[in-house]
Amino acid sequence: MYQDLALYIDGEFVKGGDRHEQDVVNPATLEVLGKLPHARRDDLDRALAAAQRALEGWKQSSPLERSKILRRVGELIRVRASEIARNVTLDQGKPLAEAISEVMACAEHAEWHAEECRRIYGRVIPPRQPGVSQIVVREPVGVCAAFTPWNFPFNQAIRKIVAAVGAGCTLILKGPEDSPSAVVALAQLFHDAGLPQGVLNIVWGVPAEVSTYLIESPIVRKISFTGSVPVGKQLAALAGAHMKRVTMELGGHSPVLVFDDADIERAAEMLAHFKLRNAGQVCVSPTRFYVQEKAYDRFLARFTEVMGSVRVGNGLDEGTQMGPLAHERRISSLEQFLEDASLRGGRIVAGGARIGNKGHFFAPTIVTELPDDAKLMVDEPFGPVAPVTRFRETAEVLRRANSLPYGLASYVFTSSLKTAAEVSSGLEAGMVSINHFGAALAETPFGGVKDSGIGSEGGLETFDGYLVTKFITQFG
Ligand code: NAD
Repeated sequence: MYQDLALYIDGEFVKGGDRHEQDVVNPATLEVLGKLPHARRDDLDRALAAAQRALEGWKQSSPLERSKILRRVGELIRVRASEIARNVTLDQGKPLAEAISEVMACAEHAEWHAEECRRIYGRVIPPRQPGVSQIVVREPVGVCAAFTPWNFPFNQAIRKIVAAVGAGCTLILKGPEDSPSAVVALAQLFHDAGLPQGVLNIVWGVPAEVSTYLIESPIVRKISFTGSVPVGKQLAALAGAHMKRVTMELGGHSPVLVFDDADIERAAEMLAHFKLRNAGQVCVSPTRFYVQEKAYDRFLARFTEVMGSVRVGNGLDEGTQMGPLAHERRISSLEQFLEDASLRGGRIVAGGARIGNKGHFFAPTIVTELPDDAKLMVDEPFGPVAPVTRFRETAEVLRRANSLPYGLASYVFTSSLKTAAEVSSGLEAGMVSINHFGAALAETPFGGVKDSGIGSEGGLETFDGYLVTKFITQFG
């Protein structure tokens, strides 16, 4: 049984009526899984009114009460993980084991925010004269609107919900229409955990129409978006026109720097598996592979071997290591990347095309000999495609790695402490992982610089985007 799909407004699951419905399709089989109701204009108005009404009580709630609800959400996630994950595999495509680990990790996000929301402190500033007290308090920003993508449908949505709810804000969230089951399951989890009605509302629709309406509403004070750079810039501009705060988690084009002195075989194996996680549809996916000259052939041989050995199939089939791409748009986009690669003298040493004619499957692909300005080297491919190129020395590779407007994740493989220190300080990125992959934990900040975004989710920084600072000075 696939998830029953609905809107969630003011504590009620709503569907039917004269609402437009969108087919939700399994990307592995192209079977229609369910019908997703779009919000009517009056649904959006009801969600706005509910979030505004609920804010009055929720912003005054004790952090202890918020903490208890978030903790309960964490417990319920663990109980329901396999059912939620199965639906994620059905409507998003990733292998079941990946879906389970996505969902299970979110129990930790709920728990981390349950703990940290009890530590939203202000401060006392010593006064210049006797009788004056000066305090700084941090208050919830108000009603938030959030827009989340389809690649980690459960994870991306819960990160925004727990940060808003933990800070004492209320929220209207538009999830990904392509892969909606996880977000409806989240609404049910918060509902069952006792979240007061109106604190969380879920809507669906035509993304640009819903986001414009919510961002322009005077009720909404903060916007949070995870998705592509062009859409992020559009939404941030609209938010700016109305002087609203933003958190933007946008795309990346993560450079990977493999130095001669690294454990080359281990790096190639780890990177091949990490590249193909979620079929490469990951904002922090390793994307441009710079390998130092002496290690290049050895790296490429092992990397090609491992990429070629990965089993591609339906995410529900046992043994599948990589599922289909989430929707048809991804296939046509990758075909354009590879067409450009061929025109620019690229050599496709593995894969290079879709697999079969049913389902959105694409072969793990490696391209070499590309110039730095080929499309694959500058635009986010968001798929199982890896361009591999050579470099000579540190200054050169740093310059090339920093040459794009993106600045999300970056990866370094070296056994030299000196190189690790030099490169981690020189990389223009929000996250640097050295000799392993360590980003996206509940207790660590996740976010980008430059075009990759504004603000962080997770870590101690997680509530910053959902709080405003108030200074109170009193005499007598
Ligand atoms: P897209 O740019 O059309 O959409 C990306 C996401 O933004 C989707 O969830 C979509 O529903 C939403 N969206 C699009 N226009 C919107 C609008 N005006 N208002 C609100 N939401 C809007 O691209 P796509 O084909 O769905 O995805 C591919 C691209 O999206 C990738 O190249 C990647 O850069 C980006 N993406 C990034 C992340 C991430 O984690 N940062 C996740 C998913 C997709």
